[in-house]
Amino acid sequence: MTTSKAYAAPDSKSPLAPYEIRRREPGPEDVEIEILYCGVCHSDLHTARNEWHNTIYPSVPGHEIVGRVKAIGNAVSGFRVGDLAGVGCMVDSCGHCSSCHEGEEQYCENGFTGTYNGPVFGGENTHGGYSQKIVVKESFVLKISHEEKDLAAVAPLLCAGITTYSPLRHWNAGPGKRVGIVGLGGLGHMGVKIANAMGAHVTLFTTSPSKVGDGKRLGAHEVCISKNPEEMEKHSNQLDFILNTVAAPHDLDAYLNLLKRDGTMTLVGAPAEAHPSPGVFNLIFKRRQLAGSLIGGIRETQEMLDFCAKHKIVSDIETIPMDYINAAYERMLKSDVKYRFVIDMATLK
Ligand code: NAP
Ligand code: ZN
Repeated sequence: MTTSKAYAAPDSKSPLAPYEIRRREPGPEDVEIEILYCGVCHSDLHTARNEWHNTIYPSVPGHEIVGRVKAIGNAVSGFRVGDLAGVGCMVDSCGHCSSCHEGEEQYCENGFTGTYNGPVFGGENTHGGYSQKIVVKESFVLKISHEEKDLAAVAPLLCAGITTYSPLRHWNAGPGKRVGIVGLGGLGHMGVKIANAMGAHVTLFTTSPSKVGDGKRLGAHEVCISKNPEEMEKHSNQLDFILNTVAAPHDLDAYLNLLKRDGTMTLVGAPAEAHPSPGVFNLIFKRRQLAGSLIGGIRETQEMLDFCAKHKIVSDIETIPMDYINAAYERMLKSDVKYRFVIDMATLK
């Protein structure tokens, strides 16, 4: 075992504070990564504050990790010391269920091991990327082909990127398809960029009038202020697919009504409290579907990183020092981030 400096939530009420964690020595299949940047996902906040009622403390969040390979085990063939590497939301899964066989480790029937707050069943909890280094088995480490100067802005692709790319691919976003993205936060702004790059017609739905210009700059062809019923009405029955990234409970009917016959709205936002239940008539009269989606598998995460490198897509970020994290959480709750905080891990002394 070695030690690593980190930042942890000691309990659900206290601010995150410096904390020392243990990391295993790299085994034959492991890659040891010096963490250079870590994105700040709203899931980090949900977890630090035990909003999903499953947090094991002390909890070190962070699952948008990029860094440099420091050491490799003797069975590692895909990475060399000095390479750039990424780690997302998972560090292991059972490897033998049908989901794992199909490259959908996020749906592992025996429960994947989260980068933090894992393993799901028993044992010591894993600690995430608000730390100096991490040791992960090679099959869960991603290759980065973006230019090194963009590294901080690549970090959010490891969660916000894949969580939007995977459902957009699954529900066939592309030329001729009208896609709605709900919420312009960390996930939503990646959704806008990626759906645009896939060739879809993109409409952004935001509660924040101040984000209209940014929505267009990021790649939305149309922007609708979702608090304005008349504007919403103009979009009714228009969309093939809606990706809903909102982190708080809200009226889903207002969005279901925007789908064409046979359209789908997929929820990726995971608020602590339930949404008011949608009425059935908006579903049954147009055979609409309401769905969910969880991050993406490792193979698809690599595909997403390569797609983003090819299309020169990175996240729009505000780089912060580690000790700004508690203030960053408060700003995230006010939708005051453009559009992802990324921690510069060199500031963790
Ligand atoms: P975020 O950066 O805080 O963005 C959320 C956005 O939702 C806000 O910027 C805001 O956009 C909108 N919003 C917030 N409160 C709202 C409200 N009361 N009504 C309507 N819109 C509201 O969060 P994030 O990091 O993108 O994460 C979003 C959610 O996805 C979180 O719940 C997170 O846990 C979850 N998540 C799920 C997965 C998965 O695998 N399914 C993966 C990662 C994260 P506007 O200002 O544009 O309205
Ligand atoms: Zn996340």
